[in-house]
This record gives sequence, structure tokens and C-alpha cells, in this order.
Amino acid sequence: MNKTVIVTGGATGIGRAVSSLLCREGYNTVVAYNNSEEAAFSLVDELQSEGLSAVAFKCDVSDSMQVNELIDHAIQEFGKIDGIVNNAGIAQQKLLSDITDEDWSKMISVNLSGCFNCCRAASLPMVRQHFGVIINISSMWGIVGASCESHYSASKAGMIGLTKSLAKELGPSNIRVNCVAPGVIKTDMLSAFSEADLNILACDTPLERIGTPEDVANTVSFLLSEKASFITGQTICVDGGFSL
Ligand code: NAP
Repeated sequence: MNKTVIVTGGATGIGRAVSSLLCREGYNTVVAYNNSEEAAFSLVDELQSEGLSAVAFKCDVSDSMQVNELIDHAIQEFGKIDGIVNNAGIAQQKLLSDITDEDWSKMISVNLSGCFNCCRAASLPMVRQHFGVIINISSMWGIVGASCESHYSASKAGMIGLTKSLAKELGPSNIRVNCVAPGVIKTDMLSAFSEADLNILACDTPLERIGTPEDVANTVSFLLSEKASFITGQTICVDGGFSL
């Protein structure tokens, strides 16, 4: 029986690369989306046309009821959940003094509470089956902090704390929990940055380039696999050395 994985924010950017790679590696893949319905269904159509197993499901991760429905749907569709990639997230660049109460609440509710909602809901069937892998997509800014992104950095640092805590709590249930911390990765999330800004960021990166969604997907694939069976509670930077 094929393994089943859920990818939140799975229709665009990094999530789309993760969904595509895992599905092509043989996972039954649940592409969870919030607004990008067309992108989610076009990806699922593409994968199904290759004879692969993928479904799309709408879920706002900040709403715990919708997250519970996502988990139930995956189990109804494929019988079990082996892994979940908590990739859904938002970003915003603002001075501390300009961040409103609403900006702060939204950032925390999508990035941190969304991750918490997914970990909590996915852990229930995983504990029962005594197996599971959780991968949280944090950010290098959650480690080193980003100027003018204090709410984003705080939410991503929170995901790292959550990951370590859950690795300890869920380890005895044979559930591994790890973080991936991408650096600067070329996706729509960087649409506010000009080509000149991106060139500067590339120059500040020891490997002298911006990352690709596939760079992150390859690391997720490794952490999800049995090759990483003794790795838990870790945060792996995929940033070309930027955060060193
Ligand atoms: P992206 O294309 O904008 O992806 C963000 C994804 O999050 C979208 O698929 C979006 O789904 C989903 N999302 C947003 N709010 C949601 C909500 N309330 N409920 C469910 N899904 C929601 O950007 P990306 O670069 O691929 O980002 C993916 C992850 O990588 C994020 O967590 C981001 O913080 C992290 N990251 C990115 C970079 C980078 O440089 N790109 C660096 C470090 C970390 P819909 O479109 O369906 O609404």
C-alpha cells in the first residue's frame, strides 16, 4: 500500500514542488489549498494524467475545523496518513511600528496556529498507527531574525520551538517531527522584491544564487523517507549558506 502525504499550501511555489515530487515518488498526495483552487486542480489533473495518485482539498489552516476535515478527508480517500508537510504560510514586510494588531494576529494565526492545528489533527491517527512524519516549513528568518519582518520571524521561530517540543512528545509514538528552514527561494512570496534586490540577496549567499522550490522539495523528500529514520527535532536550513 502506497504511503499518503498531505501538503498544505500544496498548489503553489514550494508546496507545489513538494506535492509534485512526492507524488512522483509514489506517495498518495493530498494537495491542500486555500485560494489557489485552479492551480491545485491543474496540478492534480497533471499528476493523475501520469497515472499517479493525487487529490485536491480546500483548507484554511488557521481554522482548526477545516484542518480536522482535511485529515478526515485524507483518511477517507487513502485509508491513512503517513506524513504531513506544513508548508502553508504568509509573509509581509513592515516596520515594527507599522504592524497593526490585525497584521500580527493574521501572521500568527496562519503561520503558527495553522502549523499547530495541522500537527495536532494529524498526530491523532499517527499515534494510533504508531507511525508518522511531520515536516514544518519554517524559514531561516525564524533562526536569525529579519529586519522589517518581526511578526513573520516570530511566527517562524515559534514553528521551530513547536517542532522540538513535538519531537520529544511524539517520538515514543514513532512519529518524527522536523523543520525545514528555506532561505531566499524564487516563488511568488518574493514578488515584492525587484530583480536588483534578488541579485543582492544572491550575492550575499555563499553559493551565489537564489534557491528553487525544488531545492526545498528534495530536502522534504529526504526527511520524509526512511533514510531520515533517526532524525527528529531538527531544523535543516536550505539557504545556500545565507544564514551562516
Ligand atoms: P507561496 O507560493 O505564496 O505559498 C504560500 C502558500 O501558503 C500558498 O500555497 C497558499 O495557498 C498557502 N496559504 C496561505 N495562507 C493560507 C491559509 N490561511 N490556509 C491554507 N493555506 C494558506 O510562497 P512560498 O514561497 O511557496 O511559501 C511556502 C512556505 O515557504 C511558506 O510557509 C513560507 O513562509 C516558506 N518560506 C518561503 C521562502 C521564500 O523565499 N519563498 C523562504 C522561507 C520560507 P493558496 O494560494 O491556495 O491560498
